[in-house]
Amino acid sequence: MNDNTDDERLSDFIRDRVAADLDSKKYPSIITRFPPEPNGYLHLGHAKSICLNFGIALENGGVCNLRFDDTNPAKEDVEYVESITEDVKWLIDGWADCVLSEKIYFASEYFEKLYGYAVELIKDKKAYVCELRPEEWEEYRGVPEKPGRESPGRNRSPEENLALFERMRTGEFADGEKTLRAKIDMNSPNLHMRDPVIYRIRHEKHHHAGDKWCIYPMYDFTHCLSDSIEGISHSICTLEFEVHRPLYDWVLDNLSIPQPRPYQHEFSRLNPTYMVMSKRKLLQLVEDGHVAGWDDPRMPTIAGYRRRGFTASSIRSFCKDVGVTKYKALTDVSLLENSIRVELNKVAERRCAVLDPLEVIIENYPDEESEDVEAVNNPEDETAGNRTVPFGRRLFIEREDFMEDPPKKFFRLAPGCEVRLRYAYFITCQSFEKDDAGNIIRLYCTYDPETRGGNAPDGRKVKGTIHWVSADHAIDAEVRLYDRLFTQEEPEAEGEFLHCINSDSLKVVAGKLEPSLAKLSVGERVQFERLGYFTPDSKDSTPEKLVFNRIVGLRDSWAKISKK
Ligand code: ATP
Ligand code: MG
Repeated sequence: MNDNTDDERLSDFIRDRVAADLDSKKYPSIITRFPPEPNGYLHLGHAKSICLNFGIALENGGVCNLRFDDTNPAKEDVEYVESITEDVKWLIDGWADCVLSEKIYFASEYFEKLYGYAVELIKDKKAYVCELRPEEWEEYRGVPEKPGRESPGRNRSPEENLALFERMRTGEFADGEKTLRAKIDMNSPNLHMRDPVIYRIRHEKHHHAGDKWCIYPMYDFTHCLSDSIEGISHSICTLEFEVHRPLYDWVLDNLSIPQPRPYQHEFSRLNPTYMVMSKRKLLQLVEDGHVAGWDDPRMPTIAGYRRRGFTASSIRSFCKDVGVTKYKALTDVSLLENSIRVELNKVAERRCAVLDPLEVIIENYPDEESEDVEAVNNPEDETAGNRTVPFGRRLFIEREDFMEDPPKKFFRLAPGCEVRLRYAYFITCQSFEKDDAGNIIRLYCTYDPETRGGNAPDGRKVKGTIHWVSADHAIDAEVRLYDRLFTQEEPEAEGEFLHCINSDSLKVVAGKLEPSLAKLSVGERVQFERLGYFTPDSKDSTPEKLVFNRIVGLRDSWAKISKK
């Protein structure tokens, strides 16, 4: 497997740091965490963070906590807690002995402790209750080049602050009326250090903590202390938190917390081409009906990829290939597509399906008769064996495999031309029939019974081989063909990402499939020969009405387009 297990050590600046901290015995063990906010489904960027945090724990005999960073009751929901837990479990399943611990952590379970820490800061004259309204507060904070202005409450006594903070907790004040602020430095060039708000009033029920609280701690106060409470050694996050790091350090250095304390390390976000990677934008796609839900197979969410048929190992392998750096860069989405393609090429059995059927009558094949021909399940894997496929007088082939008036290098079917039907016989097109509108509706061919299995005893060669299904045995299925959701490489850089939605990102066709595909279960993946890799849709496919998703095509169809 190409996962990062012990036989292949990964190396990057964060792993180097972890190794150095282990060498110097700074920490007794390595504990990391993956800290999503339950305000949306996980996306591919989160997968990178999961692979990094769980990977580092796995490689060093440590653990990685799944912790919900749930301090904003207005935007969060149990639906997201459940989907995130399921997605993390799925993504790490089968990855060496990486497991998700039974215990799932919630920052909201630390609210009482965090309140105690806030009280400690107030007593030490390092926090105060502020009456400024959010608009005023921004104006007081000012700009980096000029010192900010002090809040009128800044020099109130600890006793008064304690009493006010207690009254905030008991619900005496309305939302926005008061905040608790850390007393740091109104002259700091880093605006995050200009007496940041650490508690605000929100009269809102919390999805996990219930209605116990009406004051909620802010991210910067909660995150570092949650790390400390859980004994995290390395708190790994994305680069936009670099400017928050002085505040992370200030909070931990100004409270009596256990040592050695955690430290924050930042890496660059995953930013794949043709995708948006922000939960707010993904939510908008769902709410405005551009997609059928968070798990729509076109969505860059883990749930979307799972439903589309991607394997967890292909996503992990992609994350490994992308690596961990501090540089902001775009990652070509074809790297992910290639990862699943390489994996499925080795393991997926081949089947025949026709997605744009054109009827073929084999005129010299006996009416009412049929036979079974032998087909190879996987040329990449001998142990996959063979199967039989029914062949008869009426067949379907792909419409694009026939041309009435072909150009020179067209080696498929055309009037008077001979081709090989994969696993079966050579056929020659004798004539064709059109409807009143001039569309070709039927081909009349003859077959050579001597060529059974695909070779002519006289050594005669044909240039083309096409796939087919027997019309009398084929089963029907709805087949969903997906394309990229956006037409621009950087939809987020375009300003208004909704302008570059690809209106052709989903094509639904009525396919004709070889009969063995009726038995395929959800979770099984096959290659439809010449068409790509497919899997039954986990939500919509039933034995009565089969629905297949195309996971990925056989080749990168965008490579040619972008090079033009
Ligand atoms: P979004 O901007 O999509 O809402 P977020 O950063 O707010 O994402 P969180 O739930 O707070 O989402 O993220 C949980 C963890 O995943 C954080 O440590 C965050 O740094 C990391 N993460 C989020 N997006 C990416 C990304 N694109 N690449 C790598 N890591 C990411
Ligand atoms: Mg966030």
